[in-house]
Amino acid sequence: MMKLGIVGWRGMVGQVLMERMIESSDFNHFESIFFSTSQKGENNPIKVPNSNPILQDAFDLNELKKMDIILTCQGGDYTKKVHSELRASGFIGYWVDAASTLRMEQNAIIALDPINKNNIQAAIKNNQKDFIGGNCTVSLMMLALGGLFKNDSIEWVTTMTYQAASGAGARHMNELLRQMKFVTDRVMADSEDQSSQILQVEKKVKNLLSDPHFPIDNFGYPLAFNLLPWIDSELDNGQSREEWKGGAEVNKILQTKSIIPIDGTCVRVSAMRCHSQALTIKLKKDIPMDEIESMIKEQNDWVKFVPNTKEESLKTLTPQFASGSLQIPIGRMRKMNLGPTYLNAFTVGDQLLWGAAEPLRRMLHLLLEQ
Ligand code: NAP
Repeated sequence: MMKLGIVGWRGMVGQVLMERMIESSDFNHFESIFFSTSQKGENNPIKVPNSNPILQDAFDLNELKKMDIILTCQGGDYTKKVHSELRASGFIGYWVDAASTLRMEQNAIIALDPINKNNIQAAIKNNQKDFIGGNCTVSLMMLALGGLFKNDSIEWVTTMTYQAASGAGARHMNELLRQMKFVTDRVMADSEDQSSQILQVEKKVKNLLSDPHFPIDNFGYPLAFNLLPWIDSELDNGQSREEWKGGAEVNKILQTKSIIPIDGTCVRVSAMRCHSQALTIKLKKDIPMDEIESMIKEQNDWVKFVPNTKEESLKTLTPQFASGSLQIPIGRMRKMNLGPTYLNAFTVGDQLLWGAAEPLRRMLHLLLEQ
């Protein structure tokens, strides 16, 4: 049995990954060793077959080195600290990671098997060892538009994102709730009184967002009753790093000869879970809408084509609908007034499932198969 070392099982992505692995009986195939950066020596709360009862130290290179596969959702700082030292110390196992740190490294493959299974399998045969999950909005967009990428129909794409709080991690999600409570605790009495002036309530909410006790330790700014038009660090060209990932990762996953330009603006909104994106797609030629629909539906089993009606859009093209589901709805699809080769679309998907955990879980199976 392959030894699987698991790091980061307590975080947002890790918890969802554990749920999926348990419901899919994945643990039957491995001897699983759970590691922790903060709880070494404590009891392992995850009860699965063939696993260790006591948590191991996630910084202990000698223990990590014994693994055939290390599966980490611990984050980029951990990867930076451990990966190269572990490789230098002689670790020859597979490294399967949710963090972005290694994605653009030459020896790393971005794993999104419904799109690039052949490349992944070729890399395994080629003795490559680092398999990294893609950026969440990138993976979701690629699965939604997989049919158009496959048919080489896309000239360029702009993506305007609406990314949920959970995309920033467990502590941020908790902070959003505390931000909401901070405000609602102080204005509910006013808002329930129908005779109170709503503009007065709004003013009170605005003032509360800059109250010195308003909780912003994690986000740095109020997300509740607000939005944040910057995600990740600043690059010299004016893009955020999250925006840069769109073009860089899509083209790495597709291994295209000619680059498909992809750019846009990434925005954090106060949805709890699921990232949404408004897309403008420049097609290489005028393709009839029914052909576009067929291409999209046929590429993978998870994409869900939503008819462009008000009712269907409001019902199924929302974070509320997509949350906890492997389905990736795409809709609001129509030719734009800009011309017949300009396609409008809106898509939403669970960034913790297909955007993070699921490609890693499936990567383990590709490793088992080979
Ligand atoms: P996270 O929720 O912040 O968890 C990371 C680690 O933080 C946990 O493994 C845990 O480590 C520690 N931690 C400290 N306080 C915690 C608390 N109150 N609850 C849970 N964990 C706590 O990070 P994440 O969002 O899962 O992201 C992990 C990696 O996946 C990152 O590189 C991220 O960029 C990437 N990713 C995230 C998403 C997403 O939507 N969140 C999507 C795609 C990729 P210990 O148990 O060792 O203390």
